[in-house]
Amino acid sequence: MRIAVASGKGGTGKTTVAVNLALSLDNVQLIDCDVENPNGHLFLGKELEEAESVNLTVPLIDKGKCTNCGKCAEFCRYNALVTFKQDTLFFPEMCHGCGGCTLVCPEEAIAEVPRPIGRIYHADVGGMDFWSGLLNIGEPMATPVIKRLKSHIDASRTVIMDSPPGTACPVIETMSDADYVILVTEPTPFGLHDLKLAIEVARLMGLRFGVIVNRMGSGDDRVQRHCSEQNIRLLMEIPQSQEIAELYSKGIPFVREMPEWKAKFRDLHARITKEVGR
Ligand code: SF4
Ligand code: SF4
Repeated sequence: MRIAVASGKGGTGKTTVAVNLALSLDNVQLIDCDVENPNGHLFLGKELEEAESVNLTVPLIDKGKCTNCGKCAEFCRYNALVTFKQDTLFFPEMCHGCGGCTLVCPEEAIAEVPRPIGRIYHADVGGMDFWSGLLNIGEPMATPVIKRLKSHIDASRTVIMDSPPGTACPVIETMSDADYVILVTEPTPFGLHDLKLAIEVARLMGLRFGVIVNRMGSGDDRVQRHCSEQNIRLLMEIPQSQEIAELYSKGIPFVREMPEWKAKFRDLHARITKEVGR
């Protein structure tokens, strides 16, 4: 089963939930899909090994063959190619690596070359299979790195995917084939505002989802009221706790020091499994 842990905004405790849930289960894979700001590994106390580089296949124009006819630029819907009378320019950051320009060039002036945009890391954390991706600084497209990261999914395990924050393309890519989405929020007006956006995305994608409220007691009950009005399953409440906050600040997942929470996360997983019907 694949469970995506997402939230409409950063800083709600999404990674905390993903890591603690993963550490509470057996035969599990944790995949940190927040490739612009991966931090799951900080809580696992394990050195990561670089597994592979992620490349996009981009065009390389042979200026000797190119006649500046403009067919490639006309084709490219991402405006990565621009043709002038004397030259054709390529803007690598705009290229999605679709390969279309190579196909339409009448002079066969375009070769395809790899362009590194990120890296994939791996660690075995006491039997937990951990994967993490990192988008290179300045690169605008996280989705290809997430796709590559997800190619390492092991279907024989329970897969926990820590999604990027927000509701943009990288989140959609992470959630796209999830069996269930856990939406993590905080009990504040901002938390509810962004939770509503995340709920809308999950509904549009036709995904099953439920809500975890983190730092309960630090705000009000508007998230719970909204969930009740909308008939949305409230999966768990994690209290605002000095002990949890102190463990977090030391990079210690709280299930390691508070075993009663391990049982709660196991119960959460069992309820999700039942709802998904696996
Ligand atoms: S389609 Fe080929 S020949 Fe025409 S401008 Fe592009 S690279 Fe040059
Ligand atoms: S590979 Fe696709 S996106 Fe990249 S320049 Fe060519 S047509 Fe544009």
